[in-house]
Amino acid sequence: MTRGQRTRRKIRLALFVLIFLPAAARAEAGLPLLSVSADTPVIEVAPNSEYLLDPSNALTYEEIIREKPPFQRHRRDSFRFSFRKASLWIRCRIASGVDGGEVAAGGPVLALANPILGSITLYVPVVRDGATGIVEMKGGWREDMHSQEIPFLYPAFALPGDIDTRRPLLIQVIAPFTLNFRVLLHTPESFRSSGSLLFLIIGAFTGILGAMLLYNLVLYAYMRDRHYLFYILYVLFMLLWQAALFGIFRYFSSPWGRWFNLRVVIFASFMLFFGTVFAIVFLNTAKTAPRHHSVLKALAVCALAVALINLLGHATLANLLAHFLAQFSALAVCTAAVAALRSGFKPARFYLVAVSVVLAAALVYFLRFYGLLSSNQFTLHAVLYGGAAEAVLLSFALGHRIRLMRQEEETLRLREKSLQAISVTDDLTGLYNRRFLNASLEKGVAAARRSTTPLSLLMLDVDRFKGFNDAYGHPEGDKVLAALGRLLALTLREEDIACRYGGEEFAIILQHADLVTALEAAERIRSRFAETPFFPTKEKTARLTVSIGAAQLRSDEDAGRLLMRADQALYEAKRSGRDRVCSA
Ligand code: GH3
Ligand code: MG
Ligand code: MG
Repeated sequence: MTRGQRTRRKIRLALFVLIFLPAAARAEAGLPLLSVSADTPVIEVAPNSEYLLDPSNALTYEEIIREKPPFQRHRRDSFRFSFRKASLWIRCRIASGVDGGEVAAGGPVLALANPILGSITLYVPVVRDGATGIVEMKGGWREDMHSQEIPFLYPAFALPGDIDTRRPLLIQVIAPFTLNFRVLLHTPESFRSSGSLLFLIIGAFTGILGAMLLYNLVLYAYMRDRHYLFYILYVLFMLLWQAALFGIFRYFSSPWGRWFNLRVVIFASFMLFFGTVFAIVFLNTAKTAPRHHSVLKALAVCALAVALINLLGHATLANLLAHFLAQFSALAVCTAAVAALRSGFKPARFYLVAVSVVLAAALVYFLRFYGLLSSNQFTLHAVLYGGAAEAVLLSFALGHRIRLMRQEEETLRLREKSLQAISVTDDLTGLYNRRFLNASLEKGVAAARRSTTPLSLLMLDVDRFKGFNDAYGHPEGDKVLAALGRLLALTLREEDIACRYGGEEFAIILQHADLVTALEAAERIRSRFAETPFFPTKEKTARLTVSIGAAQLRSDEDAGRLLMRADQALYEAKRSGRDRVCSA
């Protein structure tokens, strides 16, 4: 320390002493003696303590004892100096042993409920062999957890049984980037049972998230749908984030455990990043909520930037940014889901339910964080419960979305199919239309050429149809054409293609049929039609006939030429008296 720094510190201390000393003296005198017992197994230390923030991180224990800088009375139930990098001094009075001899084996347990507290030093006043002294106890992530007397998720100290209650106990906490924690004084039993409860809660959370991860991983491997991938990464980072927050990695041996534990903000940033990207792809915001789309994209970029800021060593700033980004992202994702839902995107409904749960949990968490809700098992672990519920609901929403999308695809496919069918069908007869005939004949001719199988074509025209129309009217004529359509469909084989070529003319492609077969088929059609009675009026029965021209594809001709020859054969049938089949 330079001389200048030393002088500055002395001036600061002098100011403290002059201005605050009277108040501080009063405060120290008023510090309650904290004593746990079977009736009061746990006490919140924060509201019964005084604190001093030392941003320069230069004060030593000896200086505090000697120069008596002023402490302030702390009234809230937990210490919250979240975004400051400072050394925090806490002063309290603790009774060793317990009324009624409950913890006769030793003193009470003092726990600082946050695993990411850098280094912690306890200065415990003791009376040993009639003499007063100070016992220094060290903890925090800088210390190897397994070398601690009480290895636990967060730092906990078994206080000695001979505390000097006349003098205050001092705690110094130096945090890497956050000073947000509760201090609890437990009986050993109370500490053990609250520890078991915490492990139970963490176990349930980890179990649910782990199961969701595995389940969706299997689905991803099976479906190769990128939605699953983003979901998996989101849940994975949520798991890592919470594991770091709860100090799970402290159970790994150093330095890996410590490395993981200190990545808490990076895990949170990646969780926010993948959560936002998942929202973008799940909700298809580019289409369903275009205005929110750019906001979400910007938030995703911000999340990456926060991770980068943390990697560059600005942990306190990164923590502060991540904190606000989380609140903003949760809100943005929710409003995007509402917008998507309002634009008619049905899968957004379950998604909205899932993120609302997280939003509610985050609200509870932040209300507690800002001191508006008291700390209890629910408010403390709200994010955990919300996260687990969300992971399950999102997985459900994902399945629901994929089912809805499949249904929609199927409907589209069916509609397309029916549209296609309509475009090649003739309304009146239900047969194919001329457009389809032309395409099919080209294809059929090409296929027949390749496989050297025969192909024949029939051209059919109703005889003296104009006269029938004139006598009974167009609608009656239409009935005849429809009946002829049905007759053709019934008479022909599955692979044959019957089309209405124009007015009352029909063309029939007979695949794999030579001229003999084609003539047989034509004759069958002609005779059946001739036998079909029509009833154009109540009194009258009418019969009609058709003329048919048949032609087999020759090796040297194309579709046009085949059509022409079949038409010539039809003309020949008409010319030679109608109601007959001719070939060319
Ligand atoms: P033929 O073929 O034996 O030489 O005599 P035709 O009287 O049938 O002569 P043509 O084939 O030239 O006449 C076609 C008639 O078919 C004209 C029209 O009245 C009738 N026709 C064409 N399309 C339709 C239709 O969609 N509905 C009805 N009802 N009649 C149609
Ligand atoms: Mg005609
Ligand atoms: Mg005709």
